[in-house]
Amino acid sequence: MAPGEDEASAGERLDTVKARIARAAAKAGRGPGEVTLIAVSKTQGPEAIRPLIEAGQRGFGENRVQEATEKWPPLRAAFPAIRLHLVGRLQSNKAEEAVALFDAIHSVDRPSLVDALARAIEKSGRAPELFVQVNIGDEPQKGGCAIGALPDLLAGAEEAGLAIAGLMCLPPAETEPAPYFALLAKLARRHGVAGLSMGMSGDYESAVMIDATHVRVGTALFGARESGREGR
Ligand SMILES: *Cc1c(COP(=O)(O)O)cnc(C)c1O
Repeated sequence: MAPGEDEASAGERLDTVKARIARAAAKAGRGPGEVTLIAVSKTQGPEAIRPLIEAGQRGFGENRVQEATEKWPPLRAAFPAIRLHLVGRLQSNKAEEAVALFDAIHSVDRPSLVDALARAIEKSGRAPELFVQVNIGDEPQKGGCAIGALPDLLAGAEEAGLAIAGLMCLPPAETEPAPYFALLAKLARRHGVAGLSMGMSGDYESAVMIDATHVRVGTALFGARESGREGR
């Protein structure tokens, strides 16, 4: 974060991020309305989240079902237009809880989870938007399906009656992310999938220029998180 940026108000940070998204979109010949900003509020308490809601932000991302279940119901009751995105790994035994709470799930990455989600969606009658997470840098410690497993996973989702809205990735840390974004965009085109959930605080402008439809921004909106509470 640039010096002084942590003293900015939530509304000022939000304006800055939105202006940068609009500028990157314009450079790529896209409209700012083509990009959904997800404020990743993991580890942040309601006192940090509320000012962003009051400044107009409606899309929020969490990486843990448990944390989101504890934090969001009261905020949502107060602000019904909020849309909640799950951006972290999902265990199959939490599929029902996730379907009940989230409007979008960005971490579909294996056949067993597709099956669990299909059952939960049928049972609840709720149908969150679903993104397939791709392990774009082939990193063993990260979630996401292998690039080679993507065609079968998409076919399995279709068979289970699940519409897939897009692909999601988290490029390897400490490398230039643009080639990974471009690869994800190519995979999405090849499979006829429209959504692209990619780009975080350090690289969302680059993602927007490579056709991201959803950017997931935490630190640039909230300031630095306490370390050691992340997990992917
Ligand atoms: C934490 C997280 C983000 C946001 O990261 P920042 O660098 O704080 O913007 C985005 N996507 C996922 C999957 C995350 O876990």
